[in-house]
Amino acid sequence: MSEAYDEDPHEGGCLCGEIRYRLKRRPTDVGHCHCSMCQRSSGALFVTWATVPLTEFELLQGDPATYRSSPNAKRLHCGDCGTQLFFHVDEERRIDVTVATLDEPDRVEAVRNIWVDTRRAAAKGFDRDLPDYVDEGPEPDGP
Ligand SMILES: [Zn+2]
Ligand SMILES: [Zn+2]
Repeated sequence: MSEAYDEDPHEGGCLCGEIRYRLKRRPTDVGHCHCSMCQRSSGALFVTWATVPLTEFELLQGDPATYRSSPNAKRLHCGDCGTQLFFHVDEERRIDVTVATLDEPDRVEAVRNIWVDTRRAAAKGFDRDLPDYVDEGPEPDGP
């Protein structure tokens, strides 16, 4: 793993500041997701997610709104400012947070592009040195 992955906690929050959260450790995985649901729900060409075990995630402030985007998964956002913050698959013991909502997003580095079949033309040249996966790719290293 890159030296950018230090073990100090990360904090983050939404645009209006209502929702605040903490990751108690470095993310176990960071990837650019090019799936069509990430595109539509964010209004962006892709969403960069950082993954941590649920036990290492802490909601510090606020009560995110929930949108069930798949039968087994939900996306959470700020009901006031609309910032997309978290993605969680039911029963999974990990959670994804949007890297762009971290206070110090430059402390993490993406390691893969995922769901690249729907990568849009305007994002084609982005981060092409990273491996591409048509699905979510192999299980990341670490806990
Ligand atoms: Zn907000
Ligand atoms: Zn996605």
